[in-house]
Amino acid sequence: MGRGIGGPAIGEERITAWLEAFLVRLGARCRRQAVEPGRDNLVAELSWPGAGRPIVLEAHQDTVPVDGMTVPPFDAEVRAGRLYGRGACDVKGGMAAILAALERLAAERPKGAASVVAAFTVDEESGFTGVRRLARDLPAGAAFAVVAEPTRLEVVVAHKGLARWRVRTHGRSCHSARPAEGVNAVYRMAPVLSALEEYAAVLSAGSSHPLLGGPTLSVGVIRGGTSVNTVPGSCEIEIDRRLLPGEDPAAAVDHCRQFLFDRFPASGLEIEPAWISDRALDTPPDSEAARVCLAAVRKVRGGAEPVGVPYGTDASKLADAGLPSVVLGPGDIAQAHTADEWIEVAELERAVEVYVELVKLAG
Ligand SMILES: [Zn+2]
Repeated sequence: MGRGIGGPAIGEERITAWLEAFLVRLGARCRRQAVEPGRDNLVAELSWPGAGRPIVLEAHQDTVPVDGMTVPPFDAEVRAGRLYGRGACDVKGGMAAILAALERLAAERPKGAASVVAAFTVDEESGFTGVRRLARDLPAGAAFAVVAEPTRLEVVVAHKGLARWRVRTHGRSCHSARPAEGVNAVYRMAPVLSALEEYAAVLSAGSSHPLLGGPTLSVGVIRGGTSVNTVPGSCEIEIDRRLLPGEDPAAAVDHCRQFLFDRFPASGLEIEPAWISDRALDTPPDSEAARVCLAAVRKVRGGAEPVGVPYGTDASKLADAGLPSVVLGPGDIAQAHTADEWIEVAELERAVEVYVELVKLAG
């Protein structure tokens, strides 16, 4: 995630090859979408006589790094009903459930079911370049997409969007023994932070989505100064803004920029455009995608209601490209990216049932 790609153990190349071999063995038609050198999406179509129009099952191939893990990252050790390792929850668990479901469907070839396009994308954890590539070349005629991310098998129809950007104050550095000779950029940032705290409170109280609540803004990083005996010449913060459906990321940044410029005219504030942005997901709970997924989950484990989550996934990019999408997968987001990442084996098994069921119901 977010690192220079090099060496055979880094990047998705080896898992792409493994997936391709597995899927070809099932009789799927595989094609690759090149995203970056050594980083290919894999798109596998599985159909059989009597199968209907396809639904897309999507999972990303990458994981976050393994630094600092307290369990063996690559052993897939099972203890007390939990499988441990990097990606167990985010999202090799969901991917494995998709593969097991495909294996079942390839053997059973259920009449009247949907056909399946399994899409395994690269670079979800840091750049979303894989899913953006997929979104430019969606499988023809697909009814909807199910994105495997850890939702505890809840049907996620809405998630927030995102914009992140930097704001900088400039001063003039000098020796701290004579601070009056300089201009302290950290001091200049202080009122900006207070203003942003106010702005965030007003923003969150201003509007609300039934499944997502209000939008949020948070300052997560501050950097300024080089040493305690130097008056700092510049200071920088990083802002994280979570968006509701209907909000445009660039417009959200512009709104905050205007607020700061109005509040601090002639302050020399430098406000960058967002370095990452993503729209929210808002699939209607009564859409085909949501209805089929809810019915499949209800059949496998009883109740299911459409839910919203505050984190982003590949689903919003697919939905933006015109393919209705929901997020549905085994595992809990609380275990994603953790030092002892795990997934419950029983939930993996339920996920296989859910995926098989929804392919049958979608036909
Ligand atoms: Zn993930």
